[in-house]
Amino acid sequence: MTTISLYNTLHRRKEEFKPIDSTNVRMYVCGPTVYDRAHLGNVKTPVVFDVLFRLLRHVYGEQNVNYVSNITDVDDKILNKHKETGKSIREITEQTYQWYVDDMAKLNVLAPTHRPRATEYIAEMIELLKLLLQNGHAYEAEGHVLFDFDSMPAYGSLSGRSMKEMLAGARIEVADYKKNPADFILWKPSAADQPGWDSPWGYGRPGWHLECSAMSSKLLGNSFDIHGGGSDLIFPHHENECAQSMCAHPGEHFANYWVHGGMLMVDGVKMSKSLGNFYTIDEVLAKAPAEALRLLFLSTHYHQPFNFTFDGLLQAKATLDKFYNALLRVVDVETAKVAPDNRVVEALADDLNTPLALSYLHELTNVLNKATQEDEQKTAKGLLLASAGMLGLLEQNPQDWFKGANNEDVAFIEAKIAERAAAKKAKNYALADAIREELKAQGIVLEDSPIGTTWKKI
Ligand SMILES: [Zn+2]
Repeated sequence: MTTISLYNTLHRRKEEFKPIDSTNVRMYVCGPTVYDRAHLGNVKTPVVFDVLFRLLRHVYGEQNVNYVSNITDVDDKILNKHKETGKSIREITEQTYQWYVDDMAKLNVLAPTHRPRATEYIAEMIELLKLLLQNGHAYEAEGHVLFDFDSMPAYGSLSGRSMKEMLAGARIEVADYKKNPADFILWKPSAADQPGWDSPWGYGRPGWHLECSAMSSKLLGNSFDIHGGGSDLIFPHHENECAQSMCAHPGEHFANYWVHGGMLMVDGVKMSKSLGNFYTIDEVLAKAPAEALRLLFLSTHYHQPFNFTFDGLLQAKATLDKFYNALLRVVDVETAKVAPDNRVVEALADDLNTPLALSYLHELTNVLNKATQEDEQKTAKGLLLASAGMLGLLEQNPQDWFKGANNEDVAFIEAKIAERAAAKKAKNYALADAIREELKAQGIVLEDSPIGTTWKKI
């Protein structure tokens, strides 16, 4: 069996992945708060964990992987949106949820086994609060229930921060009803016109962190394998989840492997509305197909900071043009039913090395391009498609990919790129340069990178 290794934030090192039960491999990934159109940062995480989901299914069997990704549909951001727009909360969350599901489908993100909504698990959250109160890790004050920070000496072990650092770096709300400023809210009172539920502590609503502890426990058990999310969630969200779950269920591990994706930047700086580099998914997808965005996300190792640029997006599209063009040539050839290239599986098993896996897709495309006999083409096509499937790529018909584009153009450019590569190999740099110039004169710019040559129209 393929051995998977993952960088575990909890121990700050890459570790061999050993599931608690290989017939029920369990993963939880924090999902979006549904109050507005998804932005780039919202969709990178599900794409990354979709590759891990595909890998786990490949290694352990499709039926043996249980993947939960939640939908936060009760949050003050939703409440603010309601005040701003006058739309009902239900209308806002339903509409945004549907946009999100549609975006995920466009990005070839497989539906998780469960996509639970926070508002459907209020009873479980209340039960969890009762356990925390019973175990002496929470207290009630003025209609609030708060986590008692001082009751958990191990708090901070996930992020490796001291309390002093945490208090200095976080926007911690100081309130009279808190025993310690670091105590965080588990439950808060709602006004009559705010969303809320009856509870032993009055009409109110949960704090944000609580839902993930309650839903993961209900759907995956008190100890499970992988917990994922963006690195911005490590503190306070994941620390607080750990605190709640481990104090409510003493002796359980909560999650054994904590996997976090690197932060997202745009043009080398943090994405933010105030910098004018904040993009929603529909803005990005107006410029290139969703599959190009997916490939772009996967071209950087998930653990590294990811830098989005529109140039990068167009290059990713050019790479897909190359892949689909190879498939277009053999569109009438049957596809061999073969397993994915083992090198692709091994690359992904090594802490999701997607850039290395992509470099093998370039190789497999070159093999397909060179195949001349039908049986060779059949095998090469099967191998490329099965391997790309591990990354959730090349799942559409090549004719559909090029719909609207001029196929002859694409074939011509690809032929020129191959001719130039051959010239470079033969050290005929004058010819290689002449080909580059010939294409440039037609508005086609070539760009060389370690994984091959891509092109874009200017
Ligand atoms: Zn969460």
